[in-house]
Amino acid sequence: MRLVKMAKKFVCREIGMDCGFEATAETEEALMPQIAEHAKTAHNMQTIDEAPMAKIKAAIKDA
Ligand SMILES: [Zn+2]
Repeated sequence: MRLVKMAKKFVCREIGMDCGFEATAETEEALMPQIAEHAKTAHNMQTIDEAPMAKIKAAIKDA
């Protein structure tokens, strides 16, 4: 039996940013650090608060 790996994808534009950033990872857990790093370096968000975090999680799709 083969397991199908469902990758997760985040596109920054989907949370309303004018930004071409996209990240993919095998799991949401692996994706979050990439998003946090991008938020810090590209959007000057040192931490991600609850409201944007909810938006980000809603924007994460199966790739
Ligand atoms: Zn961005």
